[in-house]
Amino acid sequence: MTRRMDQITALIPLKRPLTLLCLAAALFSLSGCVTVRTRPEQAASLQTVCEQNGVNWYWDSVSQAVTMSRGALSARGMVGSEIVVIDQQKIFLSEPLKRQRGRIQVPADFYRKVILNLLGSEGTVSLRPCRIILDPGHGGKDPGAIGSAGTYEKDIVLDIAKRLKTILEGYQYDVKMTRADDTFIPLEQRTEIASQFVADLFISIHANASTTNRASGLEVYALKQLDRQEQKDPQRIKNLDILFRKLAMQRQDKSVENIVTDMLYSYKSSESFALAQAISEEVEQDTRARNRGVYKAGFFVLRNTLMPAVLVEVGFLSNAREERQLNSNQYRQKIAEGIARSLREYITRLSY
Ligand SMILES: [Zn+2]
Repeated sequence: MTRRMDQITALIPLKRPLTLLCLAAALFSLSGCVTVRTRPEQAASLQTVCEQNGVNWYWDSVSQAVTMSRGALSARGMVGSEIVVIDQQKIFLSEPLKRQRGRIQVPADFYRKVILNLLGSEGTVSLRPCRIILDPGHGGKDPGAIGSAGTYEKDIVLDIAKRLKTILEGYQYDVKMTRADDTFIPLEQRTEIASQFVADLFISIHANASTTNRASGLEVYALKQLDRQEQKDPQRIKNLDILFRKLAMQRQDKSVENIVTDMLYSYKSSESFALAQAISEEVEQDTRARNRGVYKAGFFVLRNTLMPAVLVEVGFLSNAREERQLNSNQYRQKIAEGIARSLREYITRLSY
C-alpha cells in the first residue's frame, strides 16, 4: 500500500491536494481486492501475509484462537497475545495479534518469526532455546530423607541437578536451578522462580525413603487432574500474574487471559505425563534400577507451576544398597545422563 501511494503521489503536483485526497480514498476502498505485496518487516493483516505465502490460516471468532499451517508445520496464536506456538515451541512477537476492523493484524516481526519458520526458509530465526528449571529438593535446614549411613537427600539431589545442568547446557538449553547450593528455598519460591524464568519445563529431583528398607527403585510423578479449587490456588494465581507480567500480556481483556490460562493448564496436563514416561524409561535404561513406574500426584511444585512439570525420585535412601549407589559419582552421573537424554528426545519430538 505504502509503495503504491508513493509511486502515485510522485506523479501528482502537490498543488492539487483535493485530487490527491480523492485518489487516496479510491485506493483505500480498492485495497481489499488489489494485491498489495507485503514487505516482510511491516505490520499487516494476517489474511494478506498468509495468503501471499501459501500459508493456510483459520481464526476461531469464539475462542479468538488463530491456527496457521503449511505442510506438516503448524502454528497457534491468540488475538490479544504475543505468544505464537510453532510446533509446541513458544515464540514471542514484538506486539500481540490485534483485531482491527474485523481483520487480524500482525506485528512487523510476524513474517520473520512465524511465516519464515512455517515456510522452513533459509534465514529462519532460530526459535527460543528451551528453558528448563531444575529443582533439587530440600536444602539448608531441611535435609530431606536421611540414609542409614547418614546420606542426606539434599546433597544427593543437588549433585545430580548440577550434573544435569552441565549436560543440558551442552545441548544449548537455557537452564536455571531453584537452588545451586545448600540453601533452604520454600516451595512457593521455587514455583515463582519458574514463572519468572518463563520456563518451558520444570524438573524436580528428590530421593525416596520408606519405612521398609527393602523398597527400591525409581519413581517419576506427573501432575494429577486438578479440581477447580486447586486450579485457583493463591500461589497458582500469583504465578500466573508473574508469567503474564513477564510476557507483557495485555491484561485489559479478562476472557483472553482466561483462555490463555486454560491453554497453559491443558498443555501442562497432557505433556507432564508424556515427559514423566520418557524420563522413567531412559533413567531405567542407564541405571538398571528397578522401575517402579510413573504416577500422578498433586505435589505443591507440580500443582502450582504453569509449565509441564515432573518430580523424579531417583532411588531409596532407606535401602542400604541404593544409598551406596547414590553415593557413587558414577551412578549419579548415569541418572543425570538418563534424565538429560530423555529431555532432549522429548524436546526434539516436540519440535518436528
Ligand atoms: Zn524429597
